[in-house]
Amino acid sequence: MSVSGTSAAGEKRLSGAAPARRPAPAFDAARAREDFPILRQRVHGRPLVYLDNAATTQKPRAVIDAISRYYEEDNANVHRGVHLLSERATRRHDEARKRVARFIGAPDPREVIFVRGTTEAVNLVAQTFGRTRVGAGDEVLVTELEHHSNIVPWQMLCHEKGARLRVVPVTDAGDLDLDALEALLGPRTRLLAVTQVSNALGTVNPLPEIIARAKARGVPVLVDGAQGAPHLGFDAAASGADFYAFSGHKLYGPTGVGVLWGRREHLEAMPPWQGGGDMILSVTFEKTIYNALPHKFEAGTPDIAGAIGLAAAIDYVDGLGLEAIAAHERELLALAVDALEAEEGVRLVGTPRERAGVVSFLVGDVHPHDVGTVLDRHGVAVRAGHHCAQPLMQRLGLAATARASFGLYNTPEDVDALVRGIRAVREMFA
Ligand code: PLP
Repeated sequence: MSVSGTSAAGEKRLSGAAPARRPAPAFDAARAREDFPILRQRVHGRPLVYLDNAATTQKPRAVIDAISRYYEEDNANVHRGVHLLSERATRRHDEARKRVARFIGAPDPREVIFVRGTTEAVNLVAQTFGRTRVGAGDEVLVTELEHHSNIVPWQMLCHEKGARLRVVPVTDAGDLDLDALEALLGPRTRLLAVTQVSNALGTVNPLPEIIARAKARGVPVLVDGAQGAPHLGFDAAASGADFYAFSGHKLYGPTGVGVLWGRREHLEAMPPWQGGGDMILSVTFEKTIYNALPHKFEAGTPDIAGAIGLAAAIDYVDGLGLEAIAAHERELLALAVDALEAEEGVRLVGTPRERAGVVSFLVGDVHPHDVGTVLDRHGVAVRAGHHCAQPLMQRLGLAATARASFGLYNTPEDVDALVRGIRAVREMFA
C-alpha cells in the first residue's frame, strides 16, 4: 500500500484547527510506549522523541528482562557442557533459533544461522556461496538503493574473482527500474542482492516481482531484510528468495545478534566460513570434519544472551501483531509525509510508490547535520548523513539528508514535535 502523498492525514494539527487522523484503534502506541523504559527520559529538557529507528530501535522491558534473567539464572556455555546450566543455556539457544524460524517462515530451524547482524550475514554469503559460485567474467547484481553492507562485500568478491559488479538503477522517485533489472539479468549473473526496504528513502521494493524475474533466469537472490523485517516481516519459504538477512537490534532486540536464513541445499553445499570450536565434528592435524547445519557456520561461542533477547523481541512484536504495528506505522508515515510536504522550505527526498518506516528530507539549504543538531536540542532524535548509502546519494545529487524513521512506539505527537523542530531550524537559519 502506498502511503506517500495520497493521505488526508495532513491536517493542520499544529495550528490546532482540525483533529489529526489517528492510527487505527487496534494498536495503542501510547500504551506500547510504556514498555520502553528509555523513552521516559528527557533530553535537553524536553521529552525524548525518538525518530532514529532505522539506525536502531529501543528495547522493551520484556527484552531487557529476558537478557537479565538469562544471565541471572541460566548463564553457561552452550553445546559443550553436561551440567544443568549448560543444558538450560543450550535449550534456550535452540528455542531462540526455532522462534526465529517461525517468525520468518523458515521451513527448518537448521536453516537459521545466528550472526552478528545483517552485515555479517551478507559477508558470510559473499565469502562462501559467492566465492564458490562467482568466477572471472561473472556478474553480481546489486541495486542503487543498497546500504554499503550489501554493496561492499560483493565488490570485494568481484575484485578478488575478476568478476563485475553491476547495478540496477533507481528512478528519480526512488523506485527500482525494473526494466533495467530485466536487461541486466544476463547469462553471467551469478546472484542478485537486493534490499527489502531502502534505509535511506523507505522504498519498499516489489520483491515478488523482482524475485520472479531473477528466478526466471535461474539467478539466486539474497534479500537484505534489515529494514524490512521490523516493518513488513518476511515469509522465507513463500518468497522464492535464496537468502534473507536481518539484524536483531532493528527489531527491538539486542545489538550483536542477527540472522542469516538460507535454503538448505545452498547451506549444505557452501563451505564453512570461519573455523573454530562448535563448527567441527572432529579435528586432526590432517583433516577436519565439519559439523552439520547450523553449527557449520557458527564457529566459537555464540551470542547466547543475544539470541535469547532476539527471541524475546520477536515474542513482543508478535504479541502486538506485526500487521497492527505495520498499519500504525503506515498511518504515522502518511502523517509525516503530508506534514513535511506542507511545510515551507522542506523537500522530501524520494517519493517511492510504496514506503515503509522512513522519510528523508532537506530543510532549505541548511546542512542536514545542522538540521539534526537543532532537532536534537528540541528533543527530537533523527539521523543526518549519507545513511551508509553513498552511491544512492550520488545518484540523487546529494551529499546527505535528514532522516526520520518510525517505530511501533511513535505517535502523531512525535510527528508534531518533528515539525515544530523543523520550524525552529528554519527560524534559526532564515
Ligand atoms: N542493510 C540495511 C538496509 C540497513 O539499513 C542496515 C543498517 O542500517 C544494514 C544493512 C546493516 O545492518 P547492521 O549494521 O545491523 O549489520
